[in-house]
Amino acid sequence: MKTSKEIYGVFGNPISQSLSPILQNEWIMQHGINAEYQRFEPKIDEFEKDILAHFKNQLMGCNITAPFKNEAALIGDIKSEDVALMGAANTIKKMTNGKLSAKNTDGMGLVFDLDNRANGWREYCKTINIIGAGGAAAGALPALLKTEAENINIIARNPQKALALIEKIELFDGAKAKNFQVLSWDTLINKKLDADVIINATTIGLKGDGALEIDLSNTPNHTLVYDMIYSPSKTHFLNSSENQKRKTLNGLGMLVGQAVFAFEFWFGLKPDFKFGLKHLEEYLKC
Ligand code: NAP
Repeated sequence: MKTSKEIYGVFGNPISQSLSPILQNEWIMQHGINAEYQRFEPKIDEFEKDILAHFKNQLMGCNITAPFKNEAALIGDIKSEDVALMGAANTIKKMTNGKLSAKNTDGMGLVFDLDNRANGWREYCKTINIIGAGGAAAGALPALLKTEAENINIIARNPQKALALIEKIELFDGAKAKNFQVLSWDTLINKKLDADVIINATTIGLKGDGALEIDLSNTPNHTLVYDMIYSPSKTHFLNSSENQKRKTLNGLGMLVGQAVFAFEFWFGLKPDFKFGLKHLEEYLKC
């Protein structure tokens, strides 16, 4: 019988702001698992050395957040298709043979959140516009590819980055059945945008500053506007979209969703998404 606590955790720099320990430790306690989830903050140029040292010691699994997701994809011995093709990992598990298995649960978390909080979205969602072409967009695309959406457009200030993402996503099974397109940043500013789901995957609005604002008058009434940002809980982008009478969601559910799949990967049990979301909402109110 195992007596010593297994260690799990999240690696990032900075990491003090991470809500993952608040969530994962609550689920660990609910399920009576003898483990503890901690924060790890390696120096920027020492991520690989640091994480491997922890895995040689007591670490059994971890999440990885900014700025280490790309490096994390390189250290996995076993890689899921999205980690291998998109080059970013957010979850690693130490297997019983000692090998490290890497996944990216961010996109699964986003889609799981939509399934939980955006009733009926799969029926009406033919076109998704994703704004931004950084790590979060890269993580989301493989999961969005598996939905019923027919058209997936990326809008980025740097179209080369958006094109590079499309080149990668087109290597996935099932990609031929979808239309991928890069739309220029000007589309966002000068034109009325039309899509069933619009997702902000940029950092605009993260610090409460910056203002992403789009004209939604061309979109159907059902159009859902999603901001991956959850702190602040309502960005200018979401406020402006609500003023245009569109349904909005922030990224807290995506954070909880990615954590659900990480927990399941480590422990073989699916924790309660709705409980986790409520737990974090209450924590953030304090
Ligand atoms: P990232 O890799 O740094 O990418 C940021 C993206 O935003 C890039 O495409 C960048 O464009 C763009 N951008 C930044 N400032 C801009 C501006 N002023 N105008 C136009 N584009 C701008 O960051 P990330 O990891 O993708 O994260 C993106 C957002 O998603 C962050 O707010 C993060 O907190 C959030 N996120 C949430 C979750 C969740 O669980 N809810 C998970 C992951 C990420 P350039 O490439 O041209 O610089």
